[in-house]
Order: sequence, then C-alpha cells, then structure tokens
Amino acid sequence: MLITFEGIDFCGKSTQVKLLERYLIDKHINVYVFREPGGTKIGELIRGILFDRENLGMRNQTEFFLFSASRAQLIREKVKPYLKQGYYVLSDRLHDSSTAYQGYGRGLDLNAINTVNNLALGNIIPDLTFIINITVEEMNKRKSQKLHRELDRIELNDNDFYQRVRDGYLQIADKYQDRIKIIDGTKSIDMIHREIMKIIEEYRSSDFL
Ligand code: ADP
Repeated sequence: MLITFEGIDFCGKSTQVKLLERYLIDKHINVYVFREPGGTKIGELIRGILFDRENLGMRNQTEFFLFSASRAQLIREKVKPYLKQGYYVLSDRLHDSSTAYQGYGRGLDLNAINTVNNLALGNIIPDLTFIINITVEEMNKRKSQKLHRELDRIELNDNDFYQRVRDGYLQIADKYQDRIKIIDGTKSIDMIHREIMKIIEEYRSSDFL
C-alpha cells in the first residue's frame, strides 16, 4: 500500500509521516518511508541541486524535469520492490507536488505535467493521499517561529506563489476524490494523527483486506 502526504511547506507532513510510521511499526506492519525529491543515491544528488540557493537561475522546466527524474528513479529502485514485498510505503510528497508546485505554482502546462508524471510513475499510483491543508499565513507563522536554518531555494518563493500552490492542491483533491483526503492542518498534531489512522483503518477493512 502506497500512502503519500502532500501540502504546502510546513503543513506538517513529515510530523505525520513519522507518527504513522511508528503506529504501523507498533502493529508489526512492514513500513518503508521516503522523502521526495530524494530517497535514492541519484535522487539525493538531484535534491541537492534543486534546493541549493546558488541555483536561483534554474528555469521552471528544469526544476520540473529534475523532480521528475528523481521520482522516476525512486519509483523503480525503491517503491516498486517494497510494494511487491507487501510493505506499507509512506512518501513525504510525490507527483501531486509537481502538479501543485510546477503546474499551479509556476504555471507550467498541466497536461504536459500529467504526461510526464505518468511516465515517472509507471503504473504506480498512491492508494491514499493526505493533503494537509493550512493557509499561507499559517505557513509563514510556522516558518518564522520554527525554522532554525536558512530557507532553501524553493522556500524563498513569495506568498502569491504559495497561494497558487495551496489553491492548486484543493483543485487536485477535487479531481481525485477517491484517492485524496483533505486534512485540516490547523488541528493539533495528535488530532490529525488520529484522523489519518482512522481513514487508513477504514481503507484497510474495506478495499485492502
Ligand atoms: P512539513 O514536513 O510539511 O514541512 P513539518 O512536519 O516539518 O512540516 O512541520 C513544520 C513545523 O510545524 C514543525 O515545527 C512542526 O512541529 C509544526 N507542526 C506540525 N504539525 C503541526 C500542527 N498540527 N499544529 C501546529 N504546528 C505543527
């Protein structure tokens, strides 16, 4: 089972991935966790290029292809083999991020993005996707309160960009209602975790088992 977490920066994805990983391990379920971009040797090298503040001259198309290249490698090298072995695979971001950031955010053609996303994913599609929804104001609040490092190249984008990404995520959720669940990211960490567990348990007892 492949479960992805999506949303604008600081929405709480990695916090929830960690909690879910712990929950599944406690249930003696095999679980493998990835982050995107990255997750493979090649992918981590690409990640370095993408987030390096020296690379401010990177074109939108270049950015999109680098994310897609990292994803194509991750899917084939890690995701498929782990799924085949029956693992629960959790990913902090996947192709919906490209649609939201490079499509709605940067303005690249959504059909072209769809085509390349499909190429990168092969026949893999997440079983469940959680979009953790917070406002751009909440993102900025968390950024200023909680960040103890320099902003990376993508985090340097302005509020209008993030607003488009956030709105884009809601449109993606609307299009793929069966797969995608929107979670209110302003609830407490524990409440969100319980909501996510409930949805997964419902999914397991209906479709999966
Ligand atoms: P992401 O992986 O989406 O960038 P993180 O999980 O790293 O987000 O969370 C970003 C920051 O927001 C962290 O400091 C985290 O502790 C905090 N945070 C996460 N979830 C919540 C929440 N539900 N309410 C308030 N703060 C949160």
